[in-house]
Amino acid sequence: MPRSLLVKNAQMLVTMDPSRREIAGGGLYAEDGVIRQVGDGGGLPDTADTVIDAAGQIVLPGFVNTHHHLNQTLTRNIPAAQNNNLFPWLTAHYRIWAKTNPEASRASTLIGLAELALSGCTTVFDHSYVFKSGNKVDYQIEAARDLGIRFHASRGSMSLGESSGGLPPDDCVEDEDFILEDSIRVIDRYHDAGNGAMTRIVLAPCSPFSVSETLLRESARLARDKGVMLHTHLCETLDEERYTLERFGKRPVEWMEDLDWLGPDVWFAHAIHVDDEEIQTFARTRCGAAHCPCSNMRLGSGIAPIKKYMAAGVRVGLGVDGSASNDSSNILMEARQAMLLARLRLGLLPPEGPRKHFLLSQSHELRQAEWMTAREALELATLGGARVLGRDDIGSLEAGKCADFFTLDLNTIGYAGGLNDPVAAVIFCAPQGARTTVVNGEVVVADGEIANLDMRPVVTEHNMWSRRLVEGA
Ligand code: ZN
Repeated sequence: MPRSLLVKNAQMLVTMDPSRREIAGGGLYAEDGVIRQVGDGGGLPDTADTVIDAAGQIVLPGFVNTHHHLNQTLTRNIPAAQNNNLFPWLTAHYRIWAKTNPEASRASTLIGLAELALSGCTTVFDHSYVFKSGNKVDYQIEAARDLGIRFHASRGSMSLGESSGGLPPDDCVEDEDFILEDSIRVIDRYHDAGNGAMTRIVLAPCSPFSVSETLLRESARLARDKGVMLHTHLCETLDEERYTLERFGKRPVEWMEDLDWLGPDVWFAHAIHVDDEEIQTFARTRCGAAHCPCSNMRLGSGIAPIKKYMAAGVRVGLGVDGSASNDSSNILMEARQAMLLARLRLGLLPPEGPRKHFLLSQSHELRQAEWMTAREALELATLGGARVLGRDDIGSLEAGKCADFFTLDLNTIGYAGGLNDPVAAVIFCAPQGARTTVVNGEVVVADGEIANLDMRPVVTEHNMWSRRLVEGA
């Protein structure tokens, strides 16, 4: 007998299907983690093994997080890194991160994933790149399986220490032969290329200033050989742009092109400092971008041209980025910030023609067609993220897709007065906690709490490791 699940009576169900149906009184029926039917109450089965009565709630496709560093939950807002931009912020953290041991890695992965699930996230890509002190990606994959989150793990890397012209200290980087060997091990052991996969592996060297040219080339070659995706940080700051210009005589995107790092199997975190030609390069080569608005504001990195990417047809998803630069893992908050920041970016652009009193003149010619809407932000968080991760089996609620979704109680203080458009309320109003989150047809969040794991001892353990790591630094 298949394992069945029924959602009924939703005040609103957002499908994100090709016609973007929003169904009042909607529901869905799934078997073995796959949606069989979506519709209003009429045509759905009467019962199932698991029945979720979503009266008074909105049901949304599970959000997809396309960039995170889960282990960084251990180093949220450390005093030495509260008020600096990327390079000094990184140097304040590297040695602490290098002390992350298997137990601390497990606790931090559980904390980050739980926070994501509680904000409606069902699929997470994690970009881990510091593997010292016995830490391995295996502990994260195990933690994700225990929680029931769909997880794209990275065998990330840093190999270019300070003495070779990189930013990280020499004792924080790894040997390149070992990185490639371990990458093969992890892919062979865990990567599932199939439909509905719960675990995938990505090769993710950290950045142009912490990895050698050889490792970038070799990682791309290996990823293509194994059929896994490639990811790195790119165009995050002007410091990075200066670094590649000085060292390689090229802007970051051109440098990546030289290394065979542009293609439909690649996405970049941040992608802020790009010109119009580079946006077209991303569109032509079908590269994706992970937009991380909170982190970009927190580190003063800049504002990514998301609406321009969307207009050019570039794949864009949302990422909360690491919890040391966010300092949370709330994907619903990220979607709201994406909408707000896109508007601010437009407001800061000089008007066409001579630049005079541009903030004032801007108010006379609001280019509202270019404003990001709440529904566009929802699309980035769902279908957009799915496309970035190379998946067509998640991101919308349709027959044949994975049963990944979450619900929000609409009858709360936070949404009161905003229900003339309940779908937009999810983005415009302050982020609320998920009432129910379901991944692969299994309940991960029930009544606003993590369903299958007592998180209280995890919080205690996580705080202990955080204290030890930061004090020991
Ligand atoms: Zn990052």
